[in-house]
Amino acid sequence: MDKRKVIKIYIHHSALSPDIGLEAIRELHIKRGFDDIGYHFVIEKNGEIRKGRDINIQGAHVKGDNMESIGICVCGHFEEDYPNKLQIKALRILIKKLFKEFGELQLLGHKDFSLADTLCPGQHLYELLPGIKKKLRIQK
Ligand SMILES: [Zn+2]
Repeated sequence: MDKRKVIKIYIHHSALSPDIGLEAIRELHIKRGFDDIGYHFVIEKNGEIRKGRDINIQGAHVKGDNMESIGICVCGHFEEDYPNKLQIKALRILIKKLFKEFGELQLLGHKDFSLADTLCPGQHLYELLPGIKKKLRIQK
């Protein structure tokens, strides 16, 4: 299978309890009528990086901008709470790996998409993204 063209990563939060992991999110998305979980990766509360939808298949995570993007969901509600250290570390590792595979990608929060009406990925996760990106650039 040809590799899908990818130019950006969208970061999401689940906006649910951090105890709710990949399987339950997949179930919710299927109930909503998706073929599978909408995200390509889910970072659970314990920092585990779980694979969701196959990366070569278009996701369903940013309405109107799924075509050339990868969706990563961090479990928790980060408008109110904070991602934990294990989750932040895992996110950094995952983004680094994806940059290695696809080249440097735009790193965005869901709310950066102009047509999105959402607080996702929550202020406390969103504010970490510039630092993560900066660190990866320096490490290159
Ligand atoms: Zn989102």
